[in-house]
Amino acid sequence: MPASPEMREYFGIDRMAPAPDVRAWFDGLWRRQPFTEEAIAYFRTLRLEMGTVAEPLGGGYWFGDRGLVVLRGAQDEAAVHELAHAWWERERSARQAALLDLLRRLGNEAPAAGFERVAELARVYCHGIPTQLDPSSPTGFWRGMLAEENDHETFAGFCSGVMADAAQMPPDLRLFYRGLLETA
Ligand SMILES: [Zn+2]
Repeated sequence: MPASPEMREYFGIDRMAPAPDVRAWFDGLWRRQPFTEEAIAYFRTLRLEMGTVAEPLGGGYWFGDRGLVVLRGAQDEAAVHELAHAWWERERSARQAALLDLLRRLGNEAPAAGFERVAELARVYCHGIPTQLDPSSPTGFWRGMLAEENDHETFAGFCSGVMADAAQMPPDLRLFYRGLLETA
């Protein structure tokens, strides 16, 4: 079917996957990934669009003002990431400061055993990547989520970083995913 304006603009494609194929793909995703029934019910109210359901291409966007998730292709990691953004959209006004406070702590304390993946992400989100040049940054390199107060990417990044497996999150971080993930 013809691509939506967002698909054209962000992925530069003229055709996107037919809506019934996209619904079927997401129905499969709900079964594969540990989203709660509540989260799935909310996701079903969103516009969900995919470039293709036939290739595992990464990449996607969440448009909060439109209630729209777009995925370039059929990749669980990208879908988990963008759906986490969609969930956080409704939660963040009350909880964004608390999440960034927790990020600051996780990124500066010694990694807890069993949570090394989150610890590594937290370190990068807190301190940035000195070798990743960013001309728009005052330091000349990417300063990380904390300096940019980017709670949205922090929330979605942790979620896809552990592929929706809340057991890999320290308990105080896991709390933020209650309602979204069965395992939280
Ligand atoms: Zn993101």
